Amino acid sequence: MSGAGRYIWPAFIFLLWTEAIWAGGGWKEKVRRYRYCYIDSVYWWSSERSTRVVVRLKARRPYTAYLLKNPSRLCIDIDRAVLHPPKRTWSIEDGLVHRVRAAQFSPKKARVVLDLGDIRGYNIFSLSHPDRIIIDLFPKIPKPSPVEPSLVRQLGAKVKKIVLDPGHGGRDPGAIGLWGIKEKDIVLDICKRASKLLRRRGYEVYLTRTRDVFVPLEARTAFANQKHADLFVSVHLNFSRSRVTSGTETYYLSFASDREAKELAAFENATASNRIGDIEKVLKGILKNTKIKESKALASTVQESLVSRCRREDRGVRSAPFVVLIGANMPAVLVEICFISNPKEARLIKERWFRQRVAEALVDGVERYASRLAAR
Ligand SMILES: [Zn+2]
Repeated sequence: MSGAGRYIWPAFIFLLWTEAIWAGGGWKEKVRRYRYCYIDSVYWWSSERSTRVVVRLKARRPYTAYLLKNPSRLCIDIDRAVLHPPKRTWSIEDGLVHRVRAAQFSPKKARVVLDLGDIRGYNIFSLSHPDRIIIDLFPKIPKPSPVEPSLVRQLGAKVKKIVLDPGHGGRDPGAIGLWGIKEKDIVLDICKRASKLLRRRGYEVYLTRTRDVFVPLEARTAFANQKHADLFVSVHLNFSRSRVTSGTETYYLSFASDREAKELAAFENATASNRIGDIEKVLKGILKNTKIKESKALASTVQESLVSRCRREDRGVRSAPFVVLIGANMPAVLVEICFISNPKEARLIKERWFRQRVAEALVDGVERYASRLAAR
């Protein structure tokens, strides 16, 4: 036998052997032959005004969700999914969601059931990298707030707690601009500066990250809900293929106002732009549970003060389906400070004094919104 020829028979026998092993293993066989995916894990965040449940899958799969009554439960049927082991339960017991049960409904379908208390409504949408289905549930009667609301009103302070969200982090650098400027580093610095200023003015401030770490988008909003924040501000830097594009824009959650906004949302959501359509399909339902009017008002005070104090071009208040704004129980906006693809703006944002000015402008915008609320 020639040199390579002597390996052919052993290789063939090895292949037959592995094939036999696969054919014998039930769920593994399904995963292999029908490209099934399996449910990886379930995790959740509870707050007084909503509960967020995340079902992680090993691959993207179509699903259908529907509510059933007596007892109240939300069923999600996931196509071409197998469970291993075939039955699993996660106990949540936060007053709104009792538990999550997953079972193999049919050979081709896995069913996830959320056993619920009294709910007013729910949002459901999917994200990729990793693939997951996110469910927000809203109670009929919110659990009482730890702070007596009338007292807050008497003091004229409707805004006390603010969550600042420095975009990206860790393995996600965000946009990379001229001279290798990373969005994740700049926005963290700005948020730290803004939080210092806000604390000095008596606000309670929390950051979704204080270090260079990766935080999933759905965890950021859930964090703000858990903290019972009154406002949520996500801070980002913009990027354009054109070096001349410059200016500031502030977003609230809604359908994309134009193609540019859609592309930006795709970038910030870390998805392909065609996946934005998937979010928009379910957005109408999501917006019912969103403080749009208040978010729009916050977006305009923040935008006004950024433009005037930092002397940037006013690209206006816009809307786009940013995942990080979905499910926020409070007015929530996303700020694009400037373009790090523009040499002039990139040079400015590298400067400490300018970042300090941006932080001051953000604080000013928040305060103006807060004082308008108090005056009402
Ligand atoms: Zn960003």
